[in-house]
Amino acid sequence: MKIYADNAATTKMSQTALDAMIPCLKEVYGNPSSLYETGQKAKEILEKAREDVAAVIGADPREITFTSGGSEADNQAIRSAALAGKSKGKTHIISTAFEHHAVLHTLKKLEQEGFEVTLLDVHEDGLVRPEELEAAIREDTALVTVMYANNEIGTIQPIREIGEICRRHGVVFHTDAVQAVGHVPIDVKNDPIDMLSSSAHKFHGPKGIGFLYVKKGIRLFNLIEGGAQESGKRAGTENVPAIVAMAAALKEANENMARNTEILTEQRDRLIKGLSEIPHCALNGDAEKRLPGNVNFCFEGIEGESLLLLLDDKGIQASSGSACTSGSLDPSHVLLAIGRVHDVAHGSLRLTIGEDITPEETDYMIESVKEVVEYLRGFSPIWRDLQAGKKQFIL
Ligand SMILES: *Cc1c(COP(=O)(O)O)cnc(C)c1O
Repeated sequence: MKIYADNAATTKMSQTALDAMIPCLKEVYGNPSSLYETGQKAKEILEKAREDVAAVIGADPREITFTSGGSEADNQAIRSAALAGKSKGKTHIISTAFEHHAVLHTLKKLEQEGFEVTLLDVHEDGLVRPEELEAAIREDTALVTVMYANNEIGTIQPIREIGEICRRHGVVFHTDAVQAVGHVPIDVKNDPIDMLSSSAHKFHGPKGIGFLYVKKGIRLFNLIEGGAQESGKRAGTENVPAIVAMAAALKEANENMARNTEILTEQRDRLIKGLSEIPHCALNGDAEKRLPGNVNFCFEGIEGESLLLLLDDKGIQASSGSACTSGSLDPSHVLLAIGRVHDVAHGSLRLTIGEDITPEETDYMIESVKEVVEYLRGFSPIWRDLQAGKKQFIL
């Protein structure tokens, strides 16, 4: 069996997205800024895609700016709000400890440039507390940026409450919704969101394309010097084929959302139930307030990387959710943010399933993880110490 269970990292392009992209690559090659026919045809389909994207999240097409993906959208949103704040003497930013690095590293840079950043704690359930956020707001707060759904543990934040608090205090609210768009219903007018980042490759669109929603009246700065594309807010010739494919993928995801959610939730909960039978393990993040396709566990006494390699041998492609970048063996900042100790955080497994999952595949994953965890514990010195009572079990 071959199972791709890393849909939070990226997704396979849908046939609908491919069907929208290929004719566009072949035929509509004009530059949307050109005034002759092929240019104007490209312009037309570009603007149609903008309308389609806007409609899915309840925005006005003029509030959508296309970017090269989620990272760029996050950078541009946060920098814009910081610059706008600074011009009014506001240099304080509030975020959380478990954001994506596109957000955290941008904030680090801004700190070096003189901004002050408050990172809120995330509770054990993987959720931010709105009252703690409200208490952190100051006179000089320029921006609150809190992710819609976490990419590792899948927890969905109380976005409406956070947005309402920000509105009440007159603070700009940005959300990194890269994991949420196309997976959960989003309405930027119902939930008071000022800025929202999204990326196509997380909802079966192509890589290297995304969008930023910016509410009318909120100032957006162009971070790339160049032409006047995207109303002067994002220079560079538009990637029309990718934009058209993104719009098609998003429309499709939105139309199928109810059915997809049902399939994913059922298999997610089956996985959680099955994996919970493994001794000394714990689900990371709230069991219900999480993305329909996200399962994330810690298993005591093992090392996530070995677990992944052995699962790969069994045809299961998953992630540990940990950012083991070269030279660093630090466990996931997300798991540490929710209070997992280093030893436990190292034994993590993230399974993010796709809509084409079958119950047989789910059962195969449960059996495989059970087998591999038991096998690895057989070699683990930490597990031996735990068994011998030389170390205390945490889970
Ligand atoms: C994937 C991801 C990003 C980055 O998006 P790219 O399009 O790959 O740049 C940002 N935030 C979250 C939450 C993500 O999951």
